[in-house]
Amino acid sequence: MDWSWQRIPAEYLVTGVKLARGGKVANRKGFLHVKKGRIEAIGVGSPAADGLPVLEADGLVLAPGFIDTHVHFREPGQEEKETVATGCRAAAAGGYTAVVTMPNTDPAIDNPGMVRYVLDRGREAGNCRVLPSGAISVARKGESMAEMGAMVEAGAVAFTDDGSPVQSGKLMTNALKYAKLLGVPIMTHAEDLSIVGGGCMHGGYWSTRLGLTGMARAGEDSATFRDIELARATGAHLHICHVSTKGAVDIIRRAKADGVKVTAEATPHHFSLDHSRCRDYSPRFKMNPPLREPDDVTAVADGLADGTIDCIATDHAPHTNTEKELQFDQSPFGVIGLETAFGVGLTYLVEAGKMDLGQLIQCMTERPADVLGLPMGRLEEGAEADFVLLDPKQEWLVTTDSLRSRSQNSSFLGESLKGKVKATFLRGRLTWRDEDSS
Ligand SMILES: [Zn+2]
Repeated sequence: MDWSWQRIPAEYLVTGVKLARGGKVANRKGFLHVKKGRIEAIGVGSPAADGLPVLEADGLVLAPGFIDTHVHFREPGQEEKETVATGCRAAAAGGYTAVVTMPNTDPAIDNPGMVRYVLDRGREAGNCRVLPSGAISVARKGESMAEMGAMVEAGAVAFTDDGSPVQSGKLMTNALKYAKLLGVPIMTHAEDLSIVGGGCMHGGYWSTRLGLTGMARAGEDSATFRDIELARATGAHLHICHVSTKGAVDIIRRAKADGVKVTAEATPHHFSLDHSRCRDYSPRFKMNPPLREPDDVTAVADGLADGTIDCIATDHAPHTNTEKELQFDQSPFGVIGLETAFGVGLTYLVEAGKMDLGQLIQCMTERPADVLGLPMGRLEEGAEADFVLLDPKQEWLVTTDSLRSRSQNSSFLGESLKGKVKATFLRGRLTWRDEDSS
């Protein structure tokens, strides 16, 4: 690969690549022709254009830029954990060209001014599209509805009280009705706090053995069921965040078969790790929803493979080392995930035989774009040139040095993953390249 360009020209070719399109990765090599930030031409074989600068990316997979429907960039209010700029740097390193930021900042993103604030920070960062979601309720208190219409006008792409699940069915019903009028999804953090409140890990064998308060599956299952029934009643688009139980997967599968307008996401940690990882009381395995049992992990992976769960979302949730060095029950929920998502997907879904590489890429590109209803996530002539170069064969070790996020609270530190993001391009411009590339 020729990485000698200091400046990427306005028009160039990427050649020798295997194109990932429509859930498949081509066997024959092809090319991408980029002109002024857009895809001028794309195809198998050799490009018709002559005399342009060429990036020979021999044998790498060229896919659309990844899209994450769920990240926490902590700005404003907790910049010591992550900012929009550092989060975007981690996103680019993970192959992402668009991310949906969660509104549980301090103050919360619950009005159009705050939506514009996040958009401005994203534009300043410049290396990833930042798509803000807004809070459902004022200050995320679950009491009165926030100014959803004004936030959509300002650029909000969805609404959620993520981290503070909406307990009132009446508020959720009203939010769904408004979201339907506005043409945006409600993203629900499905959790019944009266069932799981106060817990710090999955309620089961390991919580009993470790003497920690458990969070029963029923808390997620019942909230998933309630919100789906409200979506059925209102006809609104409901998106279920971070599905972690086999029960929730079954409920979503049945609702989709009934024609309810429901979509869902799963995180890399929920389709790869189970609750036994908490056995050493390491807060690097503490998140909400928690790591569940092996049959839940299998159900989530199967749900992604059969399309019950639409897409992979990281729930990238940075915390400082100081916080993650607290005792398990005192430490905050959440782990980072942007830079390991592709490797975890390839290692735990593709290598495990659950799906092929083309499907994995689809779960990180087309499908999240469709959840958001946004025209991105596909390699098409005329589209903006957001793309990644991937080496599906390269193995790499996850270390704190390998992470660009401001925080290091990854569940995968010390693990060897297969599948590496070699370079990321946003509107034809290089936003990340792997230092191993020569
Ligand atoms: Zn959540």
